[in-house]
Amino acid sequence: MSKAATAKTKPTGKKRSAKPARAKKAAVRAPSAPAPINGDEAELRRAIIDTALDMSLSGLSPGRSGNVSARWRDGILITPSGMAYDTIDVEDVVYVADNGTAPGNQRKPSSEWRFHLAAYHQRPDCAAVVHTHSLHATVLACAHKPIPAFHYMVAVAGGSDIPLVPYALFGTAELADHVAAGLADRQACLMANHGQIAIGNSLDAALELANEVETLAEQYVKLLTLGKPKLLTKAEMAEVLERIKSYGQHAQASQGD
Ligand SMILES: [Zn+2]
Repeated sequence: MSKAATAKTKPTGKKRSAKPARAKKAAVRAPSAPAPINGDEAELRRAIIDTALDMSLSGLSPGRSGNVSARWRDGILITPSGMAYDTIDVEDVVYVADNGTAPGNQRKPSSEWRFHLAAYHQRPDCAAVVHTHSLHATVLACAHKPIPAFHYMVAVAGGSDIPLVPYALFGTAELADHVAAGLADRQACLMANHGQIAIGNSLDAALELANEVETLAEQYVKLLTLGKPKLLTKAEMAEVLERIKSYGQHAQASQGD
């Protein structure tokens, strides 16, 4: 305050007239461009970072593996390629338009942006995607074993199993096609020789599901050591699916049973 009082030396009349020119320039900017980052967009970018940090620090995905995205306007916001999640800031999160183009002056998006985008195309109800190399889900994915109905909670992924999609090289359109097919009627799937992917109507929901898939995978891996598991029948799973149709609101209650 005192600084302002003593520093009233230079008149700043010009400053005001400069403002409309700036506003005009901003209006010319392409509607899909990410800057300026503020308001809801800054909040969403922060939430993506927090989700990625949670995923990483909780040990769900080792090292710099795994990536997180959320739907934003006519495209997605996704974690950048190759950066440790505790070093990224709001402006490091990358915007990728619906057609797969990314405006310049940004970091490189995660190399897996193609299958993230494919998930949003496949599922209009999907608002967020979490992809991890979580230990047990990855073990099963490398053994080419989908997760069958060994436990009723398998239904959290939206069906009577958690499917496995075929292997394809990371970052490719082929892998994106596989993931899209895997998510056609599921909220999560395993990816052969790679990891898992979970979607949700929010970042929290997608991360929670990724955690749930990992828990189920761990249980299933351990179960396999005891011999042939006794699976729930189609009819039993149909009953479960009917009961938790509105998973999300009632998830915790179901989980506690
Ligand atoms: Zn991956």
